[in-house]
Amino acid sequence: MPFASKEKQRAYNKNRYDPTRRSQYHINARGKDLARSRAWYAGHADDQRKQQRELKSQRKFIVLSHYSGSLPRCACCDEERIEFLTINHLNGGGNAHRRTMTTNFYLWLIQNDFPKDFNVLCLNCNFAQGHSRDGLCPHERERELQSKRINPLILCNA
Ligand SMILES: [Zn+2]
Ligand SMILES: [Zn+2]
Repeated sequence: MPFASKEKQRAYNKNRYDPTRRSQYHINARGKDLARSRAWYAGHADDQRKQQRELKSQRKFIVLSHYSGSLPRCACCDEERIEFLTINHLNGGGNAHRRTMTTNFYLWLIQNDFPKDFNVLCLNCNFAQGHSRDGLCPHERERELQSKRINPLILCNA
């Protein structure tokens, strides 16, 4: 018998088949595998996200330029920064329309050959117009008042 005593054999066996040692080995191995695959996916996903972002901004530019004529700008206040620009549904109901869409809104507009009844507004003008009772952006109201030579501050109820 290779062991000096039964106690020594028991100690050896206990050590050898210690479930915590075994599982620790697997945890380490699995941990390394997971870390490796996570690193790979992280790098890969980053590429994909970047590509998707570029594709989306390309689509946005194509759509905005179409509805603006040439250089994308807000139809109301001439804002030119792309980040501020959105597509506005001229007859309202833009959000309801967008909710029915499964694909990206800009892609949908391209695929549907740029339907009429849309224009380009900046987020400010789009929001203000959508939330006003008369459907006018404050810019428009001010322009109207200015053309009548009335001080807009007198009629401002905001
Ligand atoms: Zn604007
Ligand atoms: Zn405006």
